[in-house]
Amino acid sequence: MSTAFPKATIIGYPRIGRRRELKKAVEAYWAGRTSAAELETTAAELRVASYARLTELGLETGNYSIPASFSLYDQVLDTAVTFGAVSNRFKDLYDADGSLGLDAYFTLARGDKERQPLEMTKWFDTNYHYLVPEIGPDTVFSLANDWILRDVAEAAAAGYSVRPTLIGPVTFLLLSKAADEAPAGFNPLSRLDDLLPLYVELLGKLADAGVEWVQLEEPSLVADQAIPEREVAAAVERAYAALATNAAKRPAILVTSQYGSLGSLLPVIAGTDIDALHIDVFKGAVPAGEDLAKFGSTTLVAGLVDGHNIWKADLGAAAYKLAELEASVPALAVSTSTSLQHVPHDVGDEQQLDAQLRSWLAFADQKVTEVVTLARAIGSPGAIDAEIAATDEVLASRAGAAGVNRAEVRNRAAALTPSDFSRGDYAVRLAAQEDALNLPALPTTTIGSFPQTPEVRSARARANKGDLTAEQYEQLMKDEINRVIDLQEELGFDVLVHGEPERNDMVQYFAENLDGFDVTVHGWVQSYGSRCTRPSILWGDVSRPAPITVPWTEYAQSLTDKPVKGMLTGPVTILAWSFVRDDQPLGDTANQVALALRDEVTDLEAAGIKVIQVDEPALRELLPLRTEDQSGYLEWSVNSFKLSTASAAPATQIHTHLCYSEFGAIIDAIDGLDADVTSIEAARSRMEVVHDLEAHGFQRGVGPGVYDIHSPRVPGQEEVAELLEKAVQHVPARQLWVNPDCGLKTRGYTETEESLRNLVNATVAVRSQL
Ligand code: GLN
Ligand code: ZN
Repeated sequence: MSTAFPKATIIGYPRIGRRRELKKAVEAYWAGRTSAAELETTAAELRVASYARLTELGLETGNYSIPASFSLYDQVLDTAVTFGAVSNRFKDLYDADGSLGLDAYFTLARGDKERQPLEMTKWFDTNYHYLVPEIGPDTVFSLANDWILRDVAEAAAAGYSVRPTLIGPVTFLLLSKAADEAPAGFNPLSRLDDLLPLYVELLGKLADAGVEWVQLEEPSLVADQAIPEREVAAAVERAYAALATNAAKRPAILVTSQYGSLGSLLPVIAGTDIDALHIDVFKGAVPAGEDLAKFGSTTLVAGLVDGHNIWKADLGAAAYKLAELEASVPALAVSTSTSLQHVPHDVGDEQQLDAQLRSWLAFADQKVTEVVTLARAIGSPGAIDAEIAATDEVLASRAGAAGVNRAEVRNRAAALTPSDFSRGDYAVRLAAQEDALNLPALPTTTIGSFPQTPEVRSARARANKGDLTAEQYEQLMKDEINRVIDLQEELGFDVLVHGEPERNDMVQYFAENLDGFDVTVHGWVQSYGSRCTRPSILWGDVSRPAPITVPWTEYAQSLTDKPVKGMLTGPVTILAWSFVRDDQPLGDTANQVALALRDEVTDLEAAGIKVIQVDEPALRELLPLRTEDQSGYLEWSVNSFKLSTASAAPATQIHTHLCYSEFGAIIDAIDGLDADVTSIEAARSRMEVVHDLEAHGFQRGVGPGVYDIHSPRVPGQEEVAELLEKAVQHVPARQLWVNPDCGLKTRGYTETEESLRNLVNATVAVRSQL
């Protein structure tokens, strides 16, 4: 071995492209508009351009400071194809030479006519989603894809020594699920010893290709697992004993542990023969001296710069931690806490933002500069005093800025008492709502959005460009609301929605209409595959300058005698899908958002709206990775929801909506929201959730979804009726609502209409048997 680990590095960089070039290229290929060769060319250009940019920003080219962290779709899928970790239902995707190529890769990601794709799930505590590998007892691992070697060669040809990245073996298996063919109780981690030789073989090939450092990512080690920690520790020891042997025939190994702290696994992993260990010291404290002693000659790569949020680093505080570490370990380097895939490319692209706000921000490129700056302080404290002084000024400007601390917002929050969080007795509410609404058994409704037609999208784009007057835009939206109301009347729904045509996105729409937020133009981050979101920036104290949804909802209600459900995005989801200020506890920020929404609830009620839904699809997403941190989170998140809704009169029916079915773990919290009606995803899991509801003794209204809106498939009337009959067996019919799994925004009208018709007809049929 090889070059010393570089003093400055990052562990991953956005790969979608500064102008979402990869998204466009991949989607063009899927649509058959371009060839595989064209896609490969664009991808290669993006990779090399990002190495060039990182070099320009101060990462050195010859020393493996630049990670090769590109992916066409998802990094977990990349590791799965690298090792041929695919279950029997995908076996036919291998080429004759035993490799898994581009089309196999996309079939795993997106499915095809005959089969569902790999399941997708949330990546740690981020809004990124990865594909869940399927592994069975007889999955035959093999080196089935060599893109990792191609990337190394391509970079070398362009003059860069890049550090290839893979998901490490323990995390890879912990993230995987048992394949359909596996017997009950099968745990993918039991295949560790079969997988390790393939890692060893690949490391050998990388060494032959001249690679001196490789990055193995082990973020699962920072999250509590279903299996006991000692089993995880044993797997770590076995895995890295195997990988680290034979140092002459492998690159040096960096293990990363992003998204949290390793806790008691730190000494375990630091005690193996790996060559560098990355730890998150942005969120976490500097580890105890006895743990640091375990590093020995292993380089400690300090994740000091937050990779997950967009605020300029407090360089003074980071330099202080760095000095503490330097006193305890012989070899030290600086990095980001996580991959930069979670932040947009460049603040420089957002010239429309207020200059002061812009001066507080650091996107990926600015964070690289921060890392490079901090690394200069290693061995020469004082070298970055000028930069520290400059960031101190930035922090002071932020703290003192008008809008960041607003007395009226703070006083209102400070004056809250427990009764502001409580709606009182459910029995009283139920009686009042039955009187006010007079609904049939098994009432039907939808989750809020109706398909966003090309006409609606183009109207919004033209209005943004100034090609439509405000009046013209308003009229087009009203026309759309009219159509959506007519359709629901015709289909026979009981509680209608206005369809949300005026919303680009359920969070950004509110961010654009609340004080304390700003939005970006190019600030895209990958959510999954080619899907990107543009999180808003919540930088100041939040308040509502004027009613937001009231005019649209009121208009919709004027068109019908049926109740129209007002539609708001809840405080936790607004926080989860934005970049949020880091200068106060999240719970305080959530309460400010909640108070703004509470005003909207009051105004909707005054406008005659009798049913109001406050969506919280992200409630589960922010759940901390460590069990011990979860109750604190659930307390503030549930309270903020209650604060946003508790002013509603007993007769006003409050709904909430959650987008997932793995519900059991947080059912107490969901119950704690005290919503009158809760809609949840259930069609995909064939109503599994009703067992959780029954076991819990859930008392209030609940709408387990009967129509999977994630696919264009139309559920038949019989199928919906069967799901309803199953629900009725476990949950009293008087509590049950009938609705799809989620909003219809991304669906087309043809399949939506047919599906909704089947949903209503099935309900009528089941009702008649009650
Ligand atoms: N009301 C939103 C909609 O229907 C809810 C979306 C969501 O849960 N993600 O689009
Ligand atoms: Zn949903």
